[in-house]
Amino acid sequence: MKYYSTNKQAPIASLEKAVVKGLAEDKGLYMPENIKKLPKEFFDNIDKMSFQEIACTVAEAFFGEDVEKEALDKIVCDTLSFDCPVVPVTPKGQSDTNIYTLELFHGPTLAFKDVGARFMARLLQYFLKNGQRSKVEGQKSEVNVLVATSGDTGSAVANGFLGVEGIHVYVLYPKGKVSPIQECQFTTLGKNITAIEVDGVFDDCQALVKSAFMDADLNNHMKLTSANSINVARFLPQAFYYFNAYARMKALGKADNMVMCVPSGNFGNICAALFGHAMGLPIKRFVAANNANDIFYNYLQTGKYNPQPSKQTLANAMDVGDPSNFARIYDLYKGSHEAITSLISGATYKDEQIRATMQECFAETGYVLDPHGACGYQALKDLLKDGETGVFCETAHPAKFKEKVDEILSADIAIPQRLQEFMKGTKQSIPMSKDFKDFKEFLMKE
Ligand SMILES: *Cc1c(COP(=O)(O)O)cnc(C)c1O
Repeated sequence: MKYYSTNKQAPIASLEKAVVKGLAEDKGLYMPENIKKLPKEFFDNIDKMSFQEIACTVAEAFFGEDVEKEALDKIVCDTLSFDCPVVPVTPKGQSDTNIYTLELFHGPTLAFKDVGARFMARLLQYFLKNGQRSKVEGQKSEVNVLVATSGDTGSAVANGFLGVEGIHVYVLYPKGKVSPIQECQFTTLGKNITAIEVDGVFDDCQALVKSAFMDADLNNHMKLTSANSINVARFLPQAFYYFNAYARMKALGKADNMVMCVPSGNFGNICAALFGHAMGLPIKRFVAANNANDIFYNYLQTGKYNPQPSKQTLANAMDVGDPSNFARIYDLYKGSHEAITSLISGATYKDEQIRATMQECFAETGYVLDPHGACGYQALKDLLKDGETGVFCETAHPAKFKEKVDEILSADIAIPQRLQEFMKGTKQSIPMSKDFKDFKEFLMKE
């Protein structure tokens, strides 16, 4: 499969190049040249298949031309060592509901980003082993992943790449601005993971990473790539979740008129769901649930895309003022506002509404929402029509936001064993100023 850039000013790329480079030369995002439809028999029998079996079929449609089947199946199985269940959110005293949640937080760091991070690590490793990479004189053959994080991405990427030979990961995070649990998830690992504690805010971390990608000396010195959802190997595997959601709902006899609601920030996750739809996945329509960062919502209303500085909210993994995957969605529907609005609706919620939703859902159903999932739940409450069944993604385990969730629900929610394990390790990180000169000097010595 060949990949083109959404800006259409860069050469067509192989999958290997798209994965290793991340972003195209013209700063556009890579898109596959065609999207394969899956056969009707697949959807007819999907409810009898496991998450892993479904994912192998979907992965083959995306990557089968470029990766041998046996290797690809291994990558998928290694990525999906956990489950992704649908759970009914049923009001107390009732026996049925039209709202379900797809729990995406059963991975190693309890983040849905675990799937894309692990898949990308394994695919990159496959290319490093098999490819005849062109070597720049004097450049080390190791690939270096730079990732700026406000919490979730760093932990998923660090754990996904942990121990993967030939790849080194640098996680840049703002000092004192990530939760203690999140900090432990990427500073205690050691091995090929280096945590860099930047004396600044998230935007400073992102600026350091961007400057590094642009810096000629650094690019001559080392091979650099990014692991956020601009990378095709990180966002596309998230489509597995949506095929699985359909399968599990079909097994319950609830897959007709299914509406999928995705709490969104950079729009990588919902974009993967839309790729699934383009492959024939019979989901009736989609809802993108936002916090107060309402850029996509406003695009749907007006047809104008107007990026804004991001606003800080309770659902901070969705605090994005210029969602990078909007370019992919726009391209997928050839820029047609009508095509986009006929398939996708939007919703936007301020912090007070998020709080109220968490409290109401807990009181009415006993289900503990995290602030991100709360946007999804409320959007279905507001937008679901008669005869439809809604499934919203619970994108984070509530314990990852324990301080907030406990305070809002006046509760003391349990921390899963897997999260507690991370908190036992010793923190190791390199202090760094927000000045690019210092960061460059550090990397040139690596
Ligand atoms: C990353 C993240 C999101 C947003 O996902 P996008 O793919 O960026 O739209 C939502 N919720 C949580 C908990 C996240 O970590």
